[in-house]
Amino acid sequence: MNKFYFCFDVGGTDIKAGIINHNGNVICKDKIPTKESLKTNNLGKAIVDFASRLASENGYKFSKASGIGVGLPGLVDSKNGILKYAGNLKIKDYNIIEDIKNYTSLPVKIANDADLCALAELKNGVGQNYNSFVMIAVGTGIGAGIVIDGKIIPCNFSGELGHMKMTNNKNTKCHCGEYGCYETLASTKALIAQTKEAMKENPKSKMWTAYNLETVNGKTAFEFSNDATAKKVLNNFIKNLGDGIVNIVNVITPEVIILSGAISNQKDKLIAPLEEYVNKHIFARLADFKIKIIPATKTSDAGIIGARYLF
Ligand SMILES: [Zn+2]
Repeated sequence: MNKFYFCFDVGGTDIKAGIINHNGNVICKDKIPTKESLKTNNLGKAIVDFASRLASENGYKFSKASGIGVGLPGLVDSKNGILKYAGNLKIKDYNIIEDIKNYTSLPVKIANDADLCALAELKNGVGQNYNSFVMIAVGTGIGAGIVIDGKIIPCNFSGELGHMKMTNNKNTKCHCGEYGCYETLASTKALIAQTKEAMKENPKSKMWTAYNLETVNGKTAFEFSNDATAKKVLNNFIKNLGDGIVNIVNVITPEVIILSGAISNQKDKLIAPLEEYVNKHIFARLADFKIKIIPATKTSDAGIIGARYLF
């Protein structure tokens, strides 16, 4: 049997897992709710139990795997195998590799989840075409992976672009304790909050014809982009997201920005105007440099595909 790997992407809501072959193809995958598995088990045992169930359900022998790769949110010390801080999992200073090793002798490696998404694009997605890129994952927060000279920046705790300080405005308190972090302005969660605010202020907005404050989501403003209120929300969001990208390009000047997350489907209403905004404001425009912004290709499986390339 060819080489295969158990690959995990631990999120605040679900633990996604898959068996990935040597070429980075997903053989099978499944997910379990994070909270429930943490209630009955420690994370290490939950991961090994999940891997062993996937193996037996799909005709693979657990002990024949070439390794277990795990993507984790937050601050990950991958060299020492320690999850230093994951706010949404309420975990601090947890030696997850040691824990997993209590239940199996397979090789185990861990990394930050956004780094693994960038690794998936680099080895198996649109990133193969570039020598340097920054992948920005816009979701509940903002994660990022930085690739320079064909390699992910390997320092622990690097690439936390979601916590770049954009403002001191006191309305922008971040879960990390700071104010004005990029993700308080330009994440999907921020977009939803901004859409709600705009709807409250504008009772005549067309967005009210299909949504209320309970049902509004990350697509609402895009769906009603001809409505003046929604348009204002989008323009403001593009500026917020764009300002962070301008900073990134001013520091690193990668060949391309890869945008991931559900909003990266919005080609005409987001990616095109965002690219235009960024190119109007980067310093290197004065040298006729232009940055391209492109959508990620590995979307929901990126985390588990990236985990295979830890080996
Ligand atoms: Zn923050």
